[in-house]
Amino acid sequence: MSDAETLFERIIGGEIPADVVYEDEKTFAFRDINPQARVHVLVVPRVRYRNVGELAEADPGLLGDVVGACRRVAEAEGIAESGYRVVFNTDGDAGQTVFHVHAHVLGGEQLGLFGK
Ligand code: 5GP
Repeated sequence: MSDAETLFERIIGGEIPADVVYEDEKTFAFRDINPQARVHVLVVPRVRYRNVGELAEADPGLLGDVVGACRRVAEAEGIAESGYRVVFNTDGDAGQTVFHVHAHVLGGEQLGLFGK
């Protein structure tokens, strides 16, 4: 992987402003700039891996931290009870555009089915 900073590293570093909703030692969460649901938050590990598969192979504990942070975001946003979706777009056909693994936490309304 290139050493060039990704957009999300610049957001974590405070260089690019974002609406931060949660952070801890290992993870960082902020609202998506183009929300696809009433609640749409991105949760990233502070350390960069390209996608969720690489993260799972390299550091499964950190993947657990990311998923746990998704739950805490859902609780903070008041959607833990009503239900929410966690999505990791992974590479080309899934439309991943930022190659710093991130979970999309979506909810706050009835979500549509998966598909194209
Ligand atoms: P992907 O398509 O890689 O799964 O998700 C990348 C997400 O990052 C998209 O949903 C997009 O709206 C979001 N995004 C892109 N640029 C920015 C930005 O500058 N700030 C924030 N908060 N989100 C961004």
